Amino acid sequence: MIYLEHNPPARRQFYTTRNTKPTGTIVVHTAENRPDTDLPDGGAEAVARFIRDRSDAGSYHTISDADSTVQLGQFGWTMFHVRGHNSYTIGIAAAVRAAEWTDLDDSYIGQVIDRLAGAARSAAEWLRVAHGITVPASTAKRGPGGHYGPGFASHAALDPDRRTDPGPGFPWHRFFDAYRNDSSPSSKALEAQVRQLQRHLGVTVDGIAGPITIGAATTTVTSQAGRLETIHGISKATR
Ligand SMILES: [Zn+2]
Repeated sequence: MIYLEHNPPARRQFYTTRNTKPTGTIVVHTAENRPDTDLPDGGAEAVARFIRDRSDAGSYHTISDADSTVQLGQFGWTMFHVRGHNSYTIGIAAAVRAAEWTDLDDSYIGQVIDRLAGAARSAAEWLRVAHGITVPASTAKRGPGGHYGPGFASHAALDPDRRTDPGPGFPWHRFFDAYRNDSSPSSKALEAQVRQLQRHLGVTVDGIAGPITIGAATTTVTSQAGRLETIHGISKATR
């Protein structure tokens, strides 16, 4: 569901077209709302309502918190998230404050980064399918025309006089790792579960689900359909 399609904003917060072809730049923001660290996390939903109701311009393609991502606008739309660079970029935001990365609980940060990286992967998948662009897990470089290329940029880098988000404490390494999907908290937790199951089965304990582990998982965790699907996903990705 596209949130602002179903919840028309009080004033214009997007154009359904783009004046410039996307270059593969994904701009990372913090929404500067008070984080909702008591799960379920209502932060992203609260930011979505704020954007729907606000009387000035300010929006993103996605807003992520610890347990969900709200898609505010389609990736093909122009959102109003970074002055001078809106028409060719994608904007993704975390529902926290730029200054608070060092204050927040580590596991909470892990969950937020995981969701934000998931939004980044969705954006990158759209760029790949719609524009044939691959977005690397690295910082976007500024091109000769002033437009940035494929990769990630902070809002602060693109509008240094007015913005500091996502903040000097933003865990870029962790974000890039999660974007590559090789060490995100959820995949680490899943790998631990696979290892536990492998020990139980007496097969090689490598954290990679093969046919025996998946077969056992099918009989032991049939109620956890989503989890099983993820185990299959890991299997497909690694075997
Ligand atoms: Zn921003």
